Amino acid sequence: MDDNQCAGRRGTSRRAFLSASAVTAAAVPFLTGAARAAATTTALLTPQPDPQLRHLISQIDPDRIQAIIEKLVSFGTRHTSSSQTDPVRGIGAATAWVFGQMQGFAAASSGTMTVQQQSFTQPVSSRIPVPTTITNVIATLPGTATPARYYVVTGHLDSRVTDVLDFTSDAPGADDDGSGVAVVLELARLFATRQFPGTLVFATVAGEEQGLYGSAHMAAQMAAAGNDVQGMFSNDIVGASHSFDGHPPDPNTLRLFIEGIPTAATSNDISLMQSVGGENDGATHQLARFVAGAAPFDLTKMNIRPIWRRDRYLRGSDHLSFQEHGYPAARFTEQRENFDHEHQNTQVVNGVQFGDLIDFVDFNYTGRVAAVNAAALWALATNPGTPKGMQIHTTPPGTLSGTNLTTLSWNASPESNIAFYEVVTRETTAADWTSAINVGNVTSVALDISKDNVQFGLRAVDTAGRRSPVAFPQVAA
Ligand SMILES: [Zn+2]
Repeated sequence: MDDNQCAGRRGTSRRAFLSASAVTAAAVPFLTGAARAAATTTALLTPQPDPQLRHLISQIDPDRIQAIIEKLVSFGTRHTSSSQTDPVRGIGAATAWVFGQMQGFAAASSGTMTVQQQSFTQPVSSRIPVPTTITNVIATLPGTATPARYYVVTGHLDSRVTDVLDFTSDAPGADDDGSGVAVVLELARLFATRQFPGTLVFATVAGEEQGLYGSAHMAAQMAAAGNDVQGMFSNDIVGASHSFDGHPPDPNTLRLFIEGIPTAATSNDISLMQSVGGENDGATHQLARFVAGAAPFDLTKMNIRPIWRRDRYLRGSDHLSFQEHGYPAARFTEQRENFDHEHQNTQVVNGVQFGDLIDFVDFNYTGRVAAVNAAALWALATNPGTPKGMQIHTTPPGTLSGTNLTTLSWNASPESNIAFYEVVTRETTAADWTSAINVGNVTSVALDISKDNVQFGLRAVDTAGRRSPVAFPQVAA
């Protein structure tokens, strides 16, 4: 969609920071310099990718991706206001087809995957001329050990042309977002026959071009149900490896857009960031850092280019709907777009082809995008969840006005196979974590490293050496 409507919220209170208090020092394990040196690892290694993940990625089929996008284009238009009852043309026929595909995948899952059509009536707005039924198709693969944590992947089913209200012209939407829907369907097919500790959700959302309506409803429903979404990815415009604008193709790069100041930040949150930093350490930053480690080029043949920006200028996608609820959410998009091919009527003007035609889609590229998603979702749902309740304690002892010691505390993770926790650190100017300290299977630690100089994070490590995404501390109040 075009509008970037999320307003920032500002405030001036520093009360939460200034009233911070320390945990009881005697209860906290203290790692001295020598112990810390012994515990510090110089490399933030993660285990080699699971051979079963390699096998799954080898099964991603560019021919199936092509067939999916061809089918989606065959519905003529998938505009939100197009027919819901015509059996061959419009959003209704496209939704029914996707639902049937998902049901087929679920049937192969031995009953573990469930599929629902999530419908609601969207009231009139500037882009919805009459009350309109919008339908998401949601396939859920429940977690086996910690099903309360959710990981969501979406593509949007609807399409548009130049006039956002034009629901009759052909709107092939091959790249935007047939490619993202193809990723979601291919992932659902390949994950359906497997099981994971955490819960995976594969969804096609609708009404995106009219105002992110489908994803807004889905995210609100998940928030109302108290679902703990620990990671969400919107795959939107992930089909073209070549922009056809004079620039050379870039078939091995995928952008990952993540928010800076969290969309759901309160005025107190922003006030704290102004005081002590953390604007590069939202949960979405940590999610992106995790993806980079979980989906290496060796595995996916794709370089991930994280961009610390919520989305491209003037644009937005379904990750915004999840960010609104404080969920870590990010957007995958091809490296260089050709805007002649997005939101345009299909026509030739002065010899230039406009329109979102399948001719511009590279099915192998979309397959590699699916591989990146597969690697990220596999690791997220298999590894421990992000630790909760991490705090950094600031009250100095006695009459001192500060301390160079850093005291951290967190909640024990719910997983039964946690081996230890790692405190990770980096210079405030470093893009990613640079060192890790094994602090044991504890829920607090004091370190002789000044919190004034570096950033701290925490991750849980299980008995197989699998790491969780990093939790960033809140200031204890
Ligand atoms: Zn889109």
